[in-house]
Amino acid sequence: MADAATAEIPADEAEEMTVVRTKDVTKVYRMGKVEVHALKGITLDIRLGEYISIMGPSGSGKTTLFNMIGALDKPTEGQVYIDEVDVAQLDAYELAWLRCRKIGYIFQTFNLIPVMSALENVTLPMTFAGLTTDEARDKGMDLLDQVGLAERYDHKPYELSGGQQQRVAIARAMANSPAIILADEPTGNLDLATGKEIIQLLGEMNRNGNVTIITATHDIKMLSASDRIVWVRDGRLAKIELREDLDIQIGSIEGDAEGGIEASLRGAGDAGESDKSDEDEGE
Ligand code: ADP
Ligand code: MG
Repeated sequence: MADAATAEIPADEAEEMTVVRTKDVTKVYRMGKVEVHALKGITLDIRLGEYISIMGPSGSGKTTLFNMIGALDKPTEGQVYIDEVDVAQLDAYELAWLRCRKIGYIFQTFNLIPVMSALENVTLPMTFAGLTTDEARDKGMDLLDQVGLAERYDHKPYELSGGQQQRVAIARAMANSPAIILADEPTGNLDLATGKEIIQLLGEMNRNGNVTIITATHDIKMLSASDRIVWVRDGRLAKIELREDLDIQIGSIEGDAEGGIEASLRGAGDAGESDKSDEDEGE
């Protein structure tokens, strides 16, 4: 696939490239007689190298959307394109390739393998991708160094703090130099300061590693690194905002009580819920 080629594309052209495209994606979960309409028609383009935050309350469909974009589950209707290839058309081998090479996954609960050291956790996907032990070790140590954990390479997850475990998970997600990192509520199990460090680190990976970051959060304090914020409400896109637009609001209230920021941003997020259609709320 196009993976190797993307590195050689000039930055200005890369900006124009759509790396993820969803078209009218719906997802209905059927549990006996009950149907849950988790996604109700999501159409979204994400460009190579963007940092996107998907923002929405619990139950709004963020994880479901991630599972579609990450090719971990199939839409009920609609299409997901990665590099303009319809994921539904891929065979089992191509899907495995996509999940191993093209996308890095980060979860709220870190999901490290408990019996393995930090380094072994990071090198495991490289082994799947066919690197030799020596190559994987060198690259794994380099990634642990980038996330500030080189000295802890031999520690098991239970010997690391939550923030450190999430750093290892970030290094693991970067193992095979993915084009996309999907991070589903990566700060959800961390305190505010540690969460902000993790967001900062993802921002660095985005800028230096040229990786597209798509992250979900329900915490407005985690939006600082985003290029765009996609607000999801009840399975629909409520609004897409540029970071610049949000800056004004954060900037003007910084220093005030936290509640002021919350109220202001929540107001922005709620705008799409009014009768106004999504179109005039769009980019
Ligand atoms: P979020 O990540 O924003 O909290 P989810 O995508 O997890 O939201 O869930 C969206 C909706 O779909 C919720 O109503 C949730 O209960 C429902 N849902 C999620 N996964 C399943 C599932 N596997 N089976 C049935 N319902 C589900
Ligand atoms: Mg979720």
